[in-house]
Amino acid sequence: MVVHSISLPPGVYGGDDVERLFMNRLDTSAHPYYAGLRGLEVSPHFFVRRDGRTLQFVNCDERAWHAGASRWRGRENCNDWSIGIELEGLEGQSFEPVQYRQLAVLLRALAGRYPIDEAVGHEHVAPGRKRDPGPGFDWSELRRRLRRRQPRLPMAGAGVP
Ligand SMILES: [Zn+2]
Repeated sequence: MVVHSISLPPGVYGGDDVERLFMNRLDTSAHPYYAGLRGLEVSPHFFVRRDGRTLQFVNCDERAWHAGASRWRGRENCNDWSIGIELEGLEGQSFEPVQYRQLAVLLRALAGRYPIDEAVGHEHVAPGRKRDPGPGFDWSELRRRLRRRQPRLPMAGAGVP
């Protein structure tokens, strides 16, 4: 599973532009930053908003476009074999407790159905190119929330390079 962060415009929370982007309906003239997103077709499997509201964009049995050029443990193209979860946020900023809670709920549900053996960040599968979810994401908090039911799920920051 690959964890990401996104907000549109960057650092502004609560609007609907991220959802529009993931549905290829973003008005790229609405903000100067959006010009760089023109023609971009991306969507994760899930998006967890600051208030914990969780939206699904892609069926988990299908490939989502979230990781781009990426590699993990020698396997290329993480989009081909991973679930992508975007959190509403910004690299360097912290995330809401309810977002960790929802992420843990999602991970537990997904791990019951798919062979998920690690949770890592976009920054780990595309180092040098991507920096999300960034230093504001607390992997130990996610680990703490999962510990009771999935004590062995490895994740970034705990022996994962
Ligand atoms: Zn990302």
